[in-house]
Amino acid sequence: EMLTIGQMLSVHARLRGESLGARDLERSLTFRQWNDRACRLGNALRGLGLAKGERVAVLAYNCLAWAEIYAATAKAGLVAVPINFRLIGPDIRYILDDAEVSALIVQDALCDGIEEIRDDLSLPSGNLIWFGDGPCPAGYRAYEDLIAAGAATEPPDPVLPEDPWVLMYTSGTTGRPKGVIRSHRGGILLSLVTEIELGIHRHDDALLVMPMCHANSLYFFGAFTYCGAAVTIYSRRSFDPEHGARTLATSGATFSSLVPTHYIMMLGLPAAIRESLDLDRVTRLMISSAPARQETKRAVMEMFRKSGLYELYGSSETGWVTMLHPRDQFTKLGSVGRECVGSGPIRILDEAGHEVPDGMPGELYSNTPYTFDGYWKLPGKTREAFRDGACSVGDMARRDADGYIHLVDRKSNMIISGGENIYPSEVEALIGAHPGVKDVAVVGLPDATWGERVHAVVVPHAGAAPDEADLAAWCRERIAGFKRPRSFSFVHDDEMPRNATGKVLYRVLREQIGRGG
Ligand code: ATP
Repeated sequence: EMLTIGQMLSVHARLRGESLGARDLERSLTFRQWNDRACRLGNALRGLGLAKGERVAVLAYNCLAWAEIYAATAKAGLVAVPINFRLIGPDIRYILDDAEVSALIVQDALCDGIEEIRDDLSLPSGNLIWFGDGPCPAGYRAYEDLIAAGAATEPPDPVLPEDPWVLMYTSGTTGRPKGVIRSHRGGILLSLVTEIELGIHRHDDALLVMPMCHANSLYFFGAFTYCGAAVTIYSRRSFDPEHGARTLATSGATFSSLVPTHYIMMLGLPAAIRESLDLDRVTRLMISSAPARQETKRAVMEMFRKSGLYELYGSSETGWVTMLHPRDQFTKLGSVGRECVGSGPIRILDEAGHEVPDGMPGELYSNTPYTFDGYWKLPGKTREAFRDGACSVGDMARRDADGYIHLVDRKSNMIISGGENIYPSEVEALIGAHPGVKDVAVVGLPDATWGERVHAVVVPHAGAAPDEADLAAWCRERIAGFKRPRSFSFVHDDEMPRNATGKVLYRVLREQIGRGG
């Protein structure tokens, strides 16, 4: 059988034990130290009475412990349930209950969220595990005590590729969070495909900036760990563009995966700072998770001259579906590329399940060999996601004549007005090109006559604020009548509801407008 990511860590500890394995901005571990702590933690968790397959939730900001915990659970056959640190008490409780977790590991700075819901938790108190600075508070078990007590040998009961690896909750941009189950086999295949697509080897070092609770960071963590490259977890609470760019320049990282917002923030740094940084060691950069503007990608390639820019399209459920390689950036800048190696063809289907002609929008169905194993306890939702074995997460796309995929929008964001389909992303691109507009989100609001009508929420540039008449005129000259916003509202950047990766939460936005907010 193939070795899992957890088992591969032991191989690296044996073959290159004294090399850098994992670090954050404060601490680092060699492969030997990392493997040792992961084995101890895995054994200690099993020692608490947790059987193979039981779930262990993790609530922490980005820090080195994530590397230890993901490795420990994988080795011990326990299923990691990463929880987004931006969630509030009741949301956390929903996930802990839904996942029926047997243990929770929480970082000191996030204990308040747990204290809030403590009385409602059905966890045995010995399985509430704390780590951080200073003494362990009453009612928690200290993480370091567990590690000190656990055996340093490989945990018992060999983990098999078909065993579940992680249970990840979607961020809920399209509805209630759903638990995505992924097996070790999925993790292994995704790691191998990442290595082939990006050409990573063990001299690489990945700077993981996105939250470790997010699929993007987790999957890259897996891929770099699998091949024995180093992982560096960016452990600042929030992304500071100057600090982030400096870290890319000086840490020795050769790769990073960032969302468009991170790049936009770094591109906004004063030229003097940008030019003072030697960014030439970075050889590969990934942009993904949310729509990236072509101007942003061009500017990134100018800033990171020695780095190839890759774009990927994927999701927690499907893993990477397409990849756009550096060589295609200039000819296919607006596309997300083609199927990753080892995947079957993407199908773009209409409502009736028929393939649409090239150039026409339809629902994207992927055929990745590492597709998820279903939504946790939601067999109906799982069935809905598949059609003849291919998987959709609700994205609309079109294929061009060269076989490249262009994302159109999420199906749930589509506005139907007077029977016509309108994709917000198209209207957003147009309004976003107005010089006074910094950002914009377009939603459908209920309308008695038309079913839905188009509404634009605009974040103006400081000092350049366009008014409604100005924007209406801009649209009138450039877009078909039925796609034009019937109304506009203006908000500050920080009033736009977004998830952890910077994506606009359209569902929340519609609710806010509905409430008159
Ligand atoms: P939920 O599924 O609950 O709405 P989510 O959107 O955060 O949560 P993820 O799995 O984190 O779920 O993100 C996957 C989605 O991100 C994709 O379905 C797609 O809509 C979007 N996405 C991914 N890559 C890109 C990209 N390169 N460009 C534009 N959008 C992308």
